[in-house]
Amino acid sequence: MSRVFHRNIHQFYPVAVAGDGPYIIAADGRRYLDASGGAAVSCLGHSATEVVEAIQKQVASLAYAHTSFFTTEPMEQLADFLVERAPAGLEYVYFVSGGSEAVEAALKLARQYFTETGQPQRRHLIARRQSYHGNTLGALATGGNAWRRAQFEPLLTQVSHLTPCYAYREQGAQESDDAFTTRLARELEDEILRLGADEVMAFVAEPVVGATLGAVPPVAGYFRKIREVCDRYGVLLILDEVMCGMGRTGTLFAIEEDGVSPDITTIAKGLGAGYQPIGATLVSGKIYDAIAQGSGFFQHGHTYIGHATACAAALAVQQTIESRQLLSRVKVLGTALRARLQERFGEHSHIGDLRGRGLFQGLELVLDPDTKAPFDPSLKLNALIKRAAMEQGLMCYPMGGTIDGRQGDHILLAPPFILEEAHLDELVDKLDRAIAAAL
Ligand code: PLP
Repeated sequence: MSRVFHRNIHQFYPVAVAGDGPYIIAADGRRYLDASGGAAVSCLGHSATEVVEAIQKQVASLAYAHTSFFTTEPMEQLADFLVERAPAGLEYVYFVSGGSEAVEAALKLARQYFTETGQPQRRHLIARRQSYHGNTLGALATGGNAWRRAQFEPLLTQVSHLTPCYAYREQGAQESDDAFTTRLARELEDEILRLGADEVMAFVAEPVVGATLGAVPPVAGYFRKIREVCDRYGVLLILDEVMCGMGRTGTLFAIEEDGVSPDITTIAKGLGAGYQPIGATLVSGKIYDAIAQGSGFFQHGHTYIGHATACAAALAVQQTIESRQLLSRVKVLGTALRARLQERFGEHSHIGDLRGRGLFQGLELVLDPDTKAPFDPSLKLNALIKRAAMEQGLMCYPMGGTIDGRQGDHILLAPPFILEEAHLDELVDKLDRAIAAAL
């Protein structure tokens, strides 16, 4: 009997003992093709020797030094690497241990920026429905994932949740992209005015939605309009790239394709690619300078921030992605994956939508593609598909659990960037069989 408090007490968990490229191998010898990178984490697969060697070297010289006493070379080098490649204006990096922590740091940085610049009345946050920003209380309050929030509602602070840029369900049949994105930007403006134009702190969004909707890229022009509204009212734009960032969509930061610079960005999962737990919050010079010229102290220290070994691992991951030219590979493989999904599921009687960017692709499952009617949530399709996929030797990330009639059933695919084309065939075949078995 296991003494581990597993996240799902009633699920069977095979014992993972080894990694081999895009596969995880269990104790019984079964091989699982990792088509979701766990949860969009393992972008280099499970046996990248460059990263293993970098970790070994760092641990052998210095595993950890508390950041209230020292800085370290890997932390400094990783910050330089990221800032040199980040969207214009992001100039400093605060390292943390994961995605939720990166979001918490982003929220606190936004708040501290306003308290240190004489605007303490700015306290409201605006985010979007069907979003996910993490499981700690601040991040959970920011996210609009009804299922994840439900039982913790009494503990969550008030956050406004607006319409997501989710064309499949939110864009009118006759509505142009321009009209749709203008409507969403106006909704943000109206909410800022309703809350008080000088009382709103920040708008938070995932550039490409992940853990709630299974990869939904924005409609072209959306983030430019959002940026304009934020600028008009001095509201900070926080973009959460914890899942979609670090090359997953084919550019290092997903927002690059939308031509917008945020004030704050969060990254995590693909940063350390699972070799070490690490996340980061990148901030603009404006925010850093305000704190530097004010208190000079960001009040958010956690014990493991800037962990030397985690930074060394992440630096090796990012250098490997660059030296192996994997970002262009993500674009090529993403196009090839989408073509296969289209071919296999384009006319499927229960797939309503295929969407995504790069190696971040989503399928939306519906009862009827013509009406877009969702499945009954009590079927728990996500659990059925996950189990059926594991039986096929496939890891994918199904999500569902509708509470307010909005979430629906989605499957996220986020495989490692090192796949070969043959893996794509294996992926689509196994996924097809898993969906058939679950339905
Ligand atoms: N933000 C986004 C966009 C995420 O997708 C996630 C996790 O899925 C998080 C934050 C939380 O990250 P973590 O699970 O590392 O705390």
